[in-house]
This record gives sequence, C-alpha cells and structure tokens, in this order.
Amino acid sequence: MGKLIFEKSKSGRIGYTLPALSQREKVTLNIPEKLLRSKEPELPEVSEVDVIRHFIHLSTLNYHIDKGFYPLGSCTMKYNPKVNDYAASLPGFTDIHPLQPEKTVQGALRLMKELEEYLAEISGMDAVSLQPAAGAHGEFTGIKIIRKYHETQGNPRKYVLIPDSAHGTNPASVTLSGYIAKTIKSNEKGLINLEELEANLNEEVAAFMITNPNTLGLFEVEIMKIADMVHSVGALMYLDGANMNAFIGQIRPGDTGFDVMHFNLHKTFSTPHGGGGPGSGPVGVKKFLEPYLPIPRIIEKNGKLALSYDFPHSIGKIHSFYGNFLVMIKAYTYIRMLGKEHIRRVSEDAVINANYLRVKLQEHYDLPYKSICMHEFVLSGKFLKKYGVRTLDVAKRLLDYGFHAPTIYFPLIVPEALMIEPTETESKETLDAFVEAMTKIKEEAINNPDILHGAPHNTPVRRLNEALAAKQLKVKWSK
Ligand SMILES: *Cc1c(COP(=O)(O)O)cnc(C)c1O
Repeated sequence: MGKLIFEKSKSGRIGYTLPALSQREKVTLNIPEKLLRSKEPELPEVSEVDVIRHFIHLSTLNYHIDKGFYPLGSCTMKYNPKVNDYAASLPGFTDIHPLQPEKTVQGALRLMKELEEYLAEISGMDAVSLQPAAGAHGEFTGIKIIRKYHETQGNPRKYVLIPDSAHGTNPASVTLSGYIAKTIKSNEKGLINLEELEANLNEEVAAFMITNPNTLGLFEVEIMKIADMVHSVGALMYLDGANMNAFIGQIRPGDTGFDVMHFNLHKTFSTPHGGGGPGSGPVGVKKFLEPYLPIPRIIEKNGKLALSYDFPHSIGKIHSFYGNFLVMIKAYTYIRMLGKEHIRRVSEDAVINANYLRVKLQEHYDLPYKSICMHEFVLSGKFLKKYGVRTLDVAKRLLDYGFHAPTIYFPLIVPEALMIEPTETESKETLDAFVEAMTKIKEEAINNPDILHGAPHNTPVRRLNEALAAKQLKVKWSK
C-alpha cells in the first residue's frame, strides 16, 4: 500500500534547501547558543518529487469530498469552494501572530467582528463569540453560559432535557457542564413528544437542548409552542445549530424562541472537515446572556478595534487566543461570496436534494418517518435482515461503487439506520448515480448476499476491525 515517508529516505537526497543565515540575520535574531540545535533533526531525506508523489498518493487512498459524493448524515460533507482557502492563505492573514499589538491587526479583528455580526444577523441572535473550536465545544460553551445565568438567578438547576434523537455530543456536553441529561422521547412522527416534555418540565430544568431540524431531518413544527412551555418554568432554549444548511436564509432560530445556539462553521459555512483538522463552533446568544460570553470580546472604540477582557460576568476563556482564525476567514469568505440575496439558495438546494433522494430511495428501502424532510432523512435496512444482510454491509458495499457511506446506526431510534445527507452542492446526475448504486446493492443483498458480506472489495484496505485501531494504537505502517 505504500511506505512511510521516513522509509523512503535516502541519505543525502534533498528536496529543498534554505540559504544559510547571513551575519546580519544572526545578529538580528540573536538566538542564545544554548537554544541552538546541536545535531541535525531526524527528518526524512527525500527529493521534491518524492514528497509530491507521496502525498498525492495518500490523498487518493483516502476518500474525501473532492474525490466524490459523501452523503454522511448530520455531517454536511458539502463541497467547499477553493476561494475560501485562497482567502485563508493570504499572507496578510497567515503571517500575523496572536500576540501582535492590536493596532497592527485591525484587518483581522475587523473580519472577526463582521463575521460575528453576520452570524448574529443570520441566526437572529444578538451577540456571538467565535472562540469555541468545534460544534461540541460550542455546546459546552453554551451550556456553561446557561449555567452561569441560572447561578446569577440564585439556582444553577439540575437537568438539561434532550430529545432521544439528539446528537451524541449533546448529552456529553451537558454532563461535562455539571448537569444531568434527561431524555425526552420522540412521538410516532419523529418529533418532540409534547406530553413527555410537559411531564418533565419543572423549576429544576436549566434548559431544553434541541437540534432543529432534528437528526431525522424533520423540522420541529411546534417549536414556538415548545419554547413557550420551556420558558414558562424559567428554563432556556438551546439550539444545536449544526444543521443550519437546512434553513439558512429562511428562518432565524432567534425568532423561534431560542436563547443560545452554536454554529458549525466547518459544516454550514464551508470549511473542509472530517480529517480532524481545525473547526469552529461559534456561540450566539440573546441580549440578556451577552455578559456571560467568553473573553476576550472584540470591542470598538473611536473606530479602532480592540480585544477586551473587561467582562466580569464572562464564563472566561475557553480556547487559547481567539479560536481558529483561519476557519473564520473561510466562513467569512463563503458568506460574502453568497451575499444576503443568495444565501437562502443553500437551504433551498439542500432540502430539494434531500427530498429528491428520499422519494427515489423510499421505493427500495424503508422510510420509518414518512414526511417531507429538510436536509437529510433516515432509512432503515431492517428488512434486509431476512437475507442475512445488515446496514453495515450495505455501507461497506457502497465503497465499492465509489461512494462514501451514509451515517449508519444513528439516530438510535431507527433500527439499522442509514442517515443520508446529500447536501446542497451535488448535481442531479450524482444523486441519480447514488440511487442506482443503492438499488443495485439491494438486489445484491437479496440475490447474492455474500458479495455484501465480503465488501468492500475494491478499496485500498478491506473491511477493517473498527474498534482495533482505538484499542491498539499503532502509528507506524508495516506490511
Ligand atoms: C457535527 C454535529 C455536532 C458536533 O460538531 P463537532 O464540530 O463535530 O464537534 C453536534 N451536533 C450535530 C447535530 C452535528 O451534526
């Protein structure tokens, strides 16, 4: 399959040489002798072409959004326009340091400030902090803010209610923030069961944490009523806004009763993700919660921007410096490229694509919750069990057809779930090709299940033991 770049090393082979430091540079840098390297670093010795081929090869072994369709439900694996990366790699952005004096980085601060304002306007929130580094980190920050708010009211309260269709990070963030997560069952339509909610609402409840549209891809149509019920016991409404591509430009969470929310810039606002790279999970709040946002905050005085730590009620700092700045640039560029007039096309296309696929695929797979969906929908592969085939086998077989598999076995309320999010960036031809593959796989499952059990057959590695890598971490490749 390939060697590590260290294994390709040949003594004396050179890809890149730096000029020796001039006397003047030595004097200017003035690095103390004891900090200088005493021996050469143990880097691979390879030529430029070795490096290029090595990494291009690796990039073709991996599946990624620039290679093909990636309908991973809940994850919004949409195409990320390259202009975002162009903007984020401009030297004026990449060559600055977070400790530089504020007067030398006014442009960067301006970009952050404007991005905060755009997100506030898009969401109907009053204030935004860009500091959290991911969706889950945003949840943690948001729940901390809720806790601080209740503390100042005299009682932090005990519970955060979460629907059973929630993303796994929700109960995790709640628990980390010192609350007890309590599950609210969905009704037969896959929406929040209002009686269940009513029965669990009391003055010990700090917040109701909802994903809307939920992880079944269904919009909580009674959201305003739900918000009234929650507010009536003094609890707050938290929105997991990771699914914002479903409604951006159509509705604003702040107008539907939410007090706090997080955004996933690396999903909705188009930063490549999924490889463990940096993300960004800004948090937006209503005015009465603004004092609790993380510090520093960007403030403006006499036309000059500055970072202020003077917010005595803030929950404090939740990330080094100011968050992942380069991700913010990508989100900013994405928003500016679309503009106010066109941003709603994102959600229109996301919803049309998902419904197109849903209607085509429900002829071949079970659709347990039958209604028009938003940006995603969930099928069940339970009926394939009688042929000895599981959803996992279908997912593995899809890899042979050149597609990334959908999210499987989530949400937990659908047995043998296949959670499909085509996203707004795919063409009809791609969606049709996916339907064709899914249809073929179903026929194979019925007529030739062994081919599914052995899948994938054509990928660089075959079916992996998914837990082994976590249990026995091995970072060095060997045959
Ligand atoms: C992706 C996602 C999250 C978590 O976001 P991360 O950036 O991966 O931490 C939370 N909730 C929902 C609904 C998501 O889709």
